[in-house]
Amino acid sequence: MTLSRRSILSRSLAALAALGLASPARAKTAGKSVAVIGAGMAGLAAAGALARAGANVTIYEARARIGGRVATSMLWPDLPCDLGASWIHGPIGNPIKKLAKAAGAATVRTSYESSAAFEDGEEVDTDIDPFEWVDDARATASRSSSDMSLKDALIALRVMKVKTPEDIEALAAHVHLAIEHEYGGDWGRLSARYFDMGEEFAGEDVLFPQGYGALANFAAKGLAIQTGAQVTRLTPRDAGVSIEFASGQSIRADAAIVTLPLGVLQSGRVRFDQPLARARQAAIDTLGMGLLNKVFLRFDEMPPTPAMDWLEKLDAPRKVFPEWVNLAHVLGAPVLLGFNAADSADALESASDRQTIAAATDALRAMFGSRFPAPIAAQITRWRADRHALGSYSYHALGAARSARRDLAGSDWDGRIVFAGEACSSDHASTVHGAWMSGLEAAREI
Ligand SMILES: Cc1cc2nc3c(=O)[nH]c(=O)nc-3n(C[C@H](O)[C@H](O)[C@H](O)COP(=O)(O)OP(=O)(O)OC[C@H]3O[C@@H](n4cnc5c(N)ncnc54)[C@H](O)[C@@H]3O)c2cc1C
Repeated sequence: MTLSRRSILSRSLAALAALGLASPARAKTAGKSVAVIGAGMAGLAAAGALARAGANVTIYEARARIGGRVATSMLWPDLPCDLGASWIHGPIGNPIKKLAKAAGAATVRTSYESSAAFEDGEEVDTDIDPFEWVDDARATASRSSSDMSLKDALIALRVMKVKTPEDIEALAAHVHLAIEHEYGGDWGRLSARYFDMGEEFAGEDVLFPQGYGALANFAAKGLAIQTGAQVTRLTPRDAGVSIEFASGQSIRADAAIVTLPLGVLQSGRVRFDQPLARARQAAIDTLGMGLLNKVFLRFDEMPPTPAMDWLEKLDAPRKVFPEWVNLAHVLGAPVLLGFNAADSADALESASDRQTIAAATDALRAMFGSRFPAPIAAQITRWRADRHALGSYSYHALGAARSARRDLAGSDWDGRIVFAGEACSSDHASTVHGAWMSGLEAAREI
C-alpha cells in the first residue's frame, strides 16, 4: 500500500503532537501560507507545528540536504560521522530526547567524569578548572561601569596572580579547553557578564551511533521542503512578504519564519528590504558567531588509547587538538574525534587536509608517544568556510546587550517575518534543543 503525502504528514505530525512536540491547531493559522527559511532543526520544528495547525507551509533550504548544522556523513558507511552536532546535552526533560525516542534512534552515553589529560603517554594533572573563577570574573565585570571580556575579568582577579605573558598563556590553555571549546568564542571576545547565561537540562550527554541526521529526517517526514532554494532577499509586500531566490525566482507568502544562522544574517548575503527593528539589528551586529571544528581520524585497527571517553592535552601556547572523544572506547570503532575551537580553529581552517591530519597526528603523539599509529583516513570540518552557516554556533560577545538573544527572536515587519534558530534561544543557545524550541516558539507567534 502506498501512503499519500497528506496521510504521511498527518501520521508523523500526530506522532509529534502526541509527544508535545507540535503546537495545537489554531483557527487563525489554518489556510495561512507560511514560508520557512532553512531546514535545520529550528525550521523543521516550526514547519511541523504550523502544518499541524493547518497552515500551508513550505520550507526553503539552500543546501541539497536538510538538517543544517545537524549533518551526518555516510562517507564511511559502517560508521556514520556527525560533522555538526553530536550530543543531546542534558537528556532529562529535553525535547530532543523525546524526538529521538519517537524516531527510534539509539543513543550512547558519554561522561565528562571519564576523562584525563596525557603527555608522552603519562596521565597529567588537570586540577585547574577555570569555571571555579567564572563567578568571581562575572562579579568583577558586573561591578565595572561597562562589561569586560572574560579574559580581562579573569586576569583582573587577584587570586590568579597572573603577571607575565607566560602566566597568561598557561591560563589561556585551561580557559581554551574548558570554556572556548564549549562556547566557540575567544576569551578576549566572550562577555564576562553574559557568556554563560542560560539554562541546562540535567542528565549525562548522549550521542547517536547511527547519526543525529535520523532525527532531522524523522522531523521532516511529510513536510513540503524545497532544497537548493537559496533565499537572497525578503521584501514586505501587501499584507505578506515576497521572497527572492538565487535562481531569480520569487514567491509570496502571508508570513515567513527566518531560521538563517547568525553568521549568514551577519554576512548581509540575505537582503532585508526594510530595516529590521533596531534592537534586532543590534543583536545581529553584536552577538558573536563562534567556531568548533572536528577531525575524525580512522585507524586500521583499534588505536592504543586508554579506556576513557575524553582524552585531553594541555600545552600552551600550541592550542590545536587539545580535546578528543575516544570513539574506540565509546563506540568500539577504530576512530578518534579531535576538536579545535575559537581562534585556533579559525587559524587551522586555512590549512590543507594533509597539514590538518599531520597536526592531529602530532597532537596524539604528544599525548601518547611518538609510536602512536598514523591514521588511514580522515574527515575534516570547516564550518567557518561553510557558506550556509559561516561558523558553528553563536556566543554572547562583549558589546552584546544582556537581552540580545531575546531581541533577535520573534517577529518583525508587523508580524510578516518571525526569527528563530539557535542564536534566538535565550535559555539554550548554541544547541539543537535551543534551535528546536525556538522554532516551536516562532510557530506559536505566527
Ligand atoms: C561542529 C558542531 C558541533 C555541535 N555540537 C552540538 C552538540 O553536540 N549538541 C548540540 O545540542 N548542539 C551542537 N551544535 C549546535 C547545533 O548544531 C546548532 O545549534 C543547531 O543545529 C542549529 O539549528 P538551526 O536550525 O538554528 O540552524 P541550522 O541548522 O544552521 O539551520 C539553518 C538552515 O538554513 C539554511 N540556509 C542558510 N542560508 C540560507 C539561505 N540563504 N536560503 C535558504 N536556506 C539557508 C542552512 O543551510 C541550514 O540548513 C554543534 C554545531 C556544530 C557546528
